[in-house]
Amino acid sequence: MTNTQKKQEQKENMADNTENNQMEFTTDVSRLLDIVANALYSNRDVFLRELISNAADACDRLRYDALQNPDLTKGSAPFHIRLTPINDDLSLTLADNGIGMNKEDLIENLGTIARSGTAAILDQLQNKEDMNLIGQFGVGFYASFMVAQQVEVISQKAGDDTAYYWESDGRTGYTVRDATSDEQARLSDGHGTIIKLSMKNDAIDYLLEDKIKEIVMSYSDHIEIPIYLDYKHAEELGKVEEQKEPINTASALWTRAKNEISAEQYKEFYHHIGNVFDEPTLTLHWTAEGKFEYTALLYVPSMRPWDLYDPERKNALRLYVKRVFITDSIETLMYPWLRFVRGIVDSQDLPLNISREMLQSNPVLQRIRNGLTKKILGEMDKLSRDDNASFLTMWHQFGMVIKEGLYDAYDHRDAIFKISHFMSTHDENTPTTLDHYIERMKEGQDKIYYITGENAETLRNSPQLEGLKAKGIEVLLMTDTVDEFWLQQITDYKDHKFQSVTKGNIDISDFDEDKTEEKDEEAIKDERRKAKAAMEPLLNLLHEQLNNHISFARVSRRLTDSPVCLVAADDAVDMHMEKVLKTQQQFEPNAKKILEINAGHPLIQKLRSMIDDKETEKSKHADILKDAAQMLLDQALIIQGEPVPNPSAFAKRMAKFMEMGVGD
Ligand code: ADP
Repeated sequence: MTNTQKKQEQKENMADNTENNQMEFTTDVSRLLDIVANALYSNRDVFLRELISNAADACDRLRYDALQNPDLTKGSAPFHIRLTPINDDLSLTLADNGIGMNKEDLIENLGTIARSGTAAILDQLQNKEDMNLIGQFGVGFYASFMVAQQVEVISQKAGDDTAYYWESDGRTGYTVRDATSDEQARLSDGHGTIIKLSMKNDAIDYLLEDKIKEIVMSYSDHIEIPIYLDYKHAEELGKVEEQKEPINTASALWTRAKNEISAEQYKEFYHHIGNVFDEPTLTLHWTAEGKFEYTALLYVPSMRPWDLYDPERKNALRLYVKRVFITDSIETLMYPWLRFVRGIVDSQDLPLNISREMLQSNPVLQRIRNGLTKKILGEMDKLSRDDNASFLTMWHQFGMVIKEGLYDAYDHRDAIFKISHFMSTHDENTPTTLDHYIERMKEGQDKIYYITGENAETLRNSPQLEGLKAKGIEVLLMTDTVDEFWLQQITDYKDHKFQSVTKGNIDISDFDEDKTEEKDEEAIKDERRKAKAAMEPLLNLLHEQLNNHISFARVSRRLTDSPVCLVAADDAVDMHMEKVLKTQQQFEPNAKKILEINAGHPLIQKLRSMIDDKETEKSKHADILKDAAQMLLDQALIIQGEPVPNPSAFAKRMAKFMEMGVGD
């Protein structure tokens, strides 16, 4: 059997299997169509933008493929998009001579949703009817069902002989079959896509010339493929007149001078390339000259893309070479920690006829990436000074991703530190930079104190930092998981060491007022030795009772109000990091903690004195002391947000102590 015969047979089987070519939408598509049909997305004008955007992409993709294989567009008309409203049958047709789709493409692209995470987004949409979410998601081609009761597609992929016909009412599934010869003949260049929308009764105003022009002007003017609006002359019924003048400006937006581009146009372009609908926080448009020449138009969004943490998420920057679209999946064009930045880069230096694979490792790209990164971080810094509120909104969305750059891109570390903001004990509402922290450091303070955890409010009340707080020493409250990771690698900033307050020995007496009066060092040490010796029996008891859980107990120099707290040893993994690693299942913690007691706390003093009681009392107190030791540990764990090892024993002990408390 020849290859052609085989193909023919496969084709016939396919037709048989699909029962008259009738296919069903995947569940995700059906759910999406349901939402679309119910016009949750009330701005229906966007259907045209979506379809034009797809058509323009299809032209871009063919232009690129034709660089390698010029036969694909041999004899074709220049790239164009034609819109034809026909009043007789209330239809609007969009035709492009782009790359087109074969049967598999039609099924794959117009019958499924390839993007991962779709189901989760749809769940949220159904619950909250949240417009922003659908905005972020972008309904693409399916938006046509907001205005059309039936959509027909004729498409032929460049280089193929066969054209296909796709049809759907957006409810009961879709049909896909070979196109008839008449249908195929309508694709005059032998490649491209024609989409015919049979409008719903309430959407016929989209057939009006002025309405179409208005939508194209406001949403699609920046599309560099010419868009023509053909229409029927009333006098010449039946004849569609092809227009010679495009209704859009049809020049690539980034090639125009900045002062010729309105804020609206910049925004529309962002929506087009980013497939998003928020307001950009920053719009950066510049041309780099010198050794490497490129123009970049980049946007920092204001909303977090829903798939920011999806490992399969692709870099969203589009690369052009001398205005020809090359690809939107070159990873080396942007650092992963700036993966939320959208936009285009148009290079003058890269060769046009280079494969995407070769491009990936081209050193020019790395130079460009450096330039882009510097510009973005520089502009973010400027924003933080000029409009701190907007900056902080942006930081709240993307700070935790940008901070990945602290360990990922040494060259940009300083610039990232400059814009990094952290909550701190200094101000409950406004985060601070490290530079501002340093400016506020106390006399004699050489370290940057921080605590890590999930929630700033809980951290603010942690016992481990109460001593520092009492002395007026500021502590940074680091709540992003990524903080744990960069702090593993970066030990200091501008010669100041980062010091976790939940780790190692912290001595708040370093900041004692009287110390500046040169109190005798020896005298202080002596006092400490005595205090320690006085607490020795209690420390021993705690160690004895709790040695399954703690490595040892010591007198704290960081507590002022709470009786106890737990800390990690200097060389151990920090407390919160241990939790993070545990949730990521990378690590089963085994390092025991150090239990610190507050020698000045009345409860601790009382417990201490009970040990000294007369022999007769001792046995009576032995049980209480045993329980108290456990209770102290439980307390320290609870404050830490950790589960107590034995909740029912804890409850029993608690009841016993309460009974004693309310007794008599
Ligand atoms: P998106 O554009 O966000 O990928 P759409 O639902 O709008 O989602 O389109 C899905 C896919 O269908 C596109 O990615 C593209 O591959 C294909 N497609 C849509 N319209 C066209 C067209 N006019 N020509 C070629 N391919 C198209």
